[in-house]
Amino acid sequence: AQEIVTEDDGTAVAMGYAADHSTVDTAKWTKKAGPDGAKQQCTTCTLYQKIDDEYGLCPIFAGKRVHASGWCNGWVA
Ligand code: SF4
Repeated sequence: AQEIVTEDDGTAVAMGYAADHSTVDTAKWTKKAGPDGAKQQCTTCTLYQKIDDEYGLCPIFAGKRVHASGWCNGWVA
């Protein structure tokens, strides 16, 4: 299986990726503080390609798995 994205990955840092969307610093990542912020996570993102209940693929992190419960600033409704 593909490697799992870690929060210290360079792209993850640049994109504000968190494995648990509820831990995102919304003062820094203000998109997550928006009216639909609470529902923003990988599973509700257009770019998410589900693998199973825990992980999926994302073109921003090509070749790696992101957490279903994750979030990054690339989130798209
Ligand atoms: Fe998750 Fe979407 Fe960010 Fe990819 S772009 S990591 S699917 S929130």
